[in-house]
Amino acid sequence: MTSMLWIQSGGCGGCTMSLLNAESPGLLPTLEEAGIELLWHPSLSEETGAEATAILEAVCAGTRPLDILCVEGSLLRGPGGSGRFHVLAGTGRATIHWVRDLAAAARHVVAVGTCAAYGGITAAGPNVTDACGLQYDGRRRGGLLGEGFAARGGLPVVNVAGCPTHPNWVTETLMLLAVEQGLDTCAQEYWARYPQTVAKAVGLPDDHMLFSGMALGYRDDAAPINTLRASRDPVDVWCELKGFE
Ligand code: SF4
Repeated sequence: MTSMLWIQSGGCGGCTMSLLNAESPGLLPTLEEAGIELLWHPSLSEETGAEATAILEAVCAGTRPLDILCVEGSLLRGPGGSGRFHVLAGTGRATIHWVRDLAAAARHVVAVGTCAAYGGITAAGPNVTDACGLQYDGRRRGGLLGEGFAARGGLPVVNVAGCPTHPNWVTETLMLLAVEQGLDTCAQEYWARYPQTVAKAVGLPDDHMLFSGMALGYRDDAAPINTLRASRDPVDVWCELKGFE
């Protein structure tokens, strides 16, 4: 199983709300199908207080391996770099310190939403809380973790911006990280063309429809379907990125 931990920092919680709007399948079945074990999420998990703190401490200590750290909300560095504007409830410790330690332990770090990626709305205006993103401070590289940060898996922070993020962007990113773990995935939306057949096969009630799903496993390289390759233009032919200088 791939383990995932979710931390909420200086945001509105809207990215979690958006993610919960994922449907057919919903969030938790999607994670299950992708082989992702949710270690803890502040809004979804039963553990609170000392139980939740124990999970975070075990991850930081390396006794509980962590594959994916998801951070939602901007990181509040104020006042004066102490991070005390946002102390993680029940721990007496600034959230930015938790995030630094958890990011150092994680195989991949994902910034969910514009707040966690760039600072977002929390960093707008006079930015009295000195809010920033994980690896960006607005347009400037750096942020909380610094320009040179790379997670243990070798990647910098994976930014899934949007305010809020679309739930499918998040689940698609998690699928790609599952691929990076050596698994193959196959998202299926064609099932929506045969709603009655699929509903009968999976035992859906009359007022439900399976719109999309995902297969997870190891592909058969000898199967003809897996040898098909589409020709594609290089990315700079059809895409121009601006504002990242
Ligand atoms: S990116 Fe938008 S929706 Fe997500 S936490 Fe920030 S303000 Fe809320």
